[in-house]
Amino acid sequence: MFIEPNLRANPKHQAGWLEVICGCMFSGKTEELIRRVNRAKIAKQEVAIFKPSMDNRYHSKHVISHNANAIYSVPVESSQEILARVGTATVVGIDEVQFFDEGIIEVCTCLANSGVRVIVAGLDMDYRGMPFGFMPNLMAVAEFITKVHAICMQCGGVANFSYRLVAAKEQVLLGETDAYEARCRKCFLEGQHREE
Ligand code: ZN
Repeated sequence: MFIEPNLRANPKHQAGWLEVICGCMFSGKTEELIRRVNRAKIAKQEVAIFKPSMDNRYHSKHVISHNANAIYSVPVESSQEILARVGTATVVGIDEVQFFDEGIIEVCTCLANSGVRVIVAGLDMDYRGMPFGFMPNLMAVAEFITKVHAICMQCGGVANFSYRLVAAKEQVLLGETDAYEARCRKCFLEGQHREE
């Protein structure tokens, strides 16, 4: 489990940092984001959570994980809107971060440079097993990366891939969790071969 580093123990270390939580679908990314943000909130730290407004699977004002552990969040149209709405928060969470534009890298860097603890969660790969959006860039500039895994729905192994059950070629298929299965590498490849 991720343990927060004690970077602030040294007064010279007042800069923030970036944490990336990544993994396939059904791997508990949002639950992990909520766990970290809630603990900061309990410690009376000012928190703000954002998510892309395109992700309207559930209630538009909440980051809601699949276990229905809801937390208030602000839907934003672009990465720049995060900077405009962050206010005085010292802990900033961003869910579904893979859907943001390229500016998200600068936004996260800018916040961390100004002393904010930034925690982002997102899919690291799309349904083809290719890196998703600007996740690789965010992982490159982050201090901490946590990769979470699901359980393969075919064999019970460790799942790293989001396998799409329906034939659609768009990279983003929103609100369609039924259309995916978490799969291990072997079962993911077997499924792909069957399609060819
Ligand atoms: Zn498997």
